Amino acid sequence: MPITRRDAKKAKILYIEDNRENRMLVRAILEAEGYTIVDAEDGLAGIEAAIREEPALILLDVNLPAIDGYEVVAVIKSFPAFATTPVIAVTAYAMEGDRQRTLVAGCDGYIQKPIDVDAFPRQVEEFLHGKRERVESHDEGVYLRELNQRLVYRLLNQVEELKRLNQHFVRRASQLEDLHRATGAITSELSVAGMLEKLLGELARAIGSTSLSVELSEPPGVQVSVHRDSGV
Ligand code: MN
Repeated sequence: MPITRRDAKKAKILYIEDNRENRMLVRAILEAEGYTIVDAEDGLAGIEAAIREEPALILLDVNLPAIDGYEVVAVIKSFPAFATTPVIAVTAYAMEGDRQRTLVAGCDGYIQKPIDVDAFPRQVEEFLHGKRERVESHDEGVYLRELNQRLVYRLLNQVEELKRLNQHFVRRASQLEDLHRATGAITSELSVAGMLEKLLGELARAIGSTSLSVELSEPPGVQVSVHRDSGV
């Protein structure tokens, strides 16, 4: 059976977006058009959902916590299965070149936020029917270099962060070791005789006695005496 326009409209669309209101809005608009919407609120969940759901199109917010949209599209496009799946950046225009940046990173199109509620279904449909945007070739080198630098800096930051975490754990481990040693020392002192000796010493001092002796009936055979010098 040939794919009619109607069937195409039932396509599954994945929307990766950390903002709840945006997720609800896009879901409402596209579900009203007959699409099935799957959403994910961060980059990793988005990559997992893409692999699991095999959507016909992916809408991708660029500003995401932890793994951002540039990294998400790089990972998704590294899978041969997604070579032809359109990944469309949906992002607020923040600075000159944002469109080129997302395209160079691997996106197949760019839709600016806030989305135009009336135009949005048509924009999505065009990408589903094969529309692809490309960055102008004379811009490509500049933006590619910038993207590479960005990824390298992000990587450096993550290495630094791991180093900090590692130092933290090393410090915690040595604290735990100290604690373990101290506990061991206390436990080894906690024989009845050891405790009695300490107690009797204190008691003898308190009552002004020079000598105290205790013999326990239980356990048998424990006899503890303390002697201290009288006077000052
Ligand atoms: Mn966001």
